[in-house]
Amino acid sequence: MIFLRFESHGEAQYGVIDRHDITPISPHPFGPYEETDDPIPLAEVRLLAPVAPGKIVAVGMNYKAHVKEMGREIPEEPVLFMKPPSGVIGSQDAILYPKMSTHVDYEAELAVVIKKKAKDVAEKDALDFVFGYTCFNDVTARDLQKKDNQWTRAKGFDTFAPIGPWIVTDLDPGHLPIECHLNGAVKQKGNTRDMIFSVPYLVSFISRVMTLEPGDVIATGTPPGIGPMQTGDRVDVSIEGIGVLRNTVEAGT
Ligand code: MG
Repeated sequence: MIFLRFESHGEAQYGVIDRHDITPISPHPFGPYEETDDPIPLAEVRLLAPVAPGKIVAVGMNYKAHVKEMGREIPEEPVLFMKPPSGVIGSQDAILYPKMSTHVDYEAELAVVIKKKAKDVAEKDALDFVFGYTCFNDVTARDLQKKDNQWTRAKGFDTFAPIGPWIVTDLDPGHLPIECHLNGAVKQKGNTRDMIFSVPYLVSFISRVMTLEPGDVIATGTPPGIGPMQTGDRVDVSIEGIGVLRNTVEAGT
């Protein structure tokens, strides 16, 4: 199934996509829900980020070829960091280029959306705690990442967590082609089968550190080919079986 969030009369509303229509649902898809209204044509609504996560746990250095391009060692355990929920934007929203940085990169990633409370979950059971998958752009101020030595500022600006366009359930996360296009030109071309730490491993590992809650997001790391964006650019993160997360870059504050 495909779940999304959209704007309806000024409020965020969850829905299910059926062909070219959205059926509104309430209260949310992470538990029992009801259909609340007649279907609305998909083309007539403004999409929002498909989830409002309580937290975003991100994984660095999870593709060998990306570790190599960064000049780092292959990690023995997942490298975790967090992005604030205040960075979330949806597909078609603008990434705002902050004045503090002169080098802002795209990073195409598969995002995992958590279904139910997960604490100390075994790897073999981990996918039972996953609601679905979507596209993510781990936007990074690379100059500030190097300068600060830790990543909160570089990864934490408002609009630096584009996610969407929607959440697809019933997908095998183990071999999904993933690409990033900048102004239509392919920049990243990878496959989730090349992850150093798989989705079930990551869900289990992170759940042994912190309790994961419904709607929390795990950004699973980027394949090689990262590079900078400029104001006026259009950046597309696409994952086969999910869709395209499209954002433009505008001057920020
Ligand atoms: Mg990343």
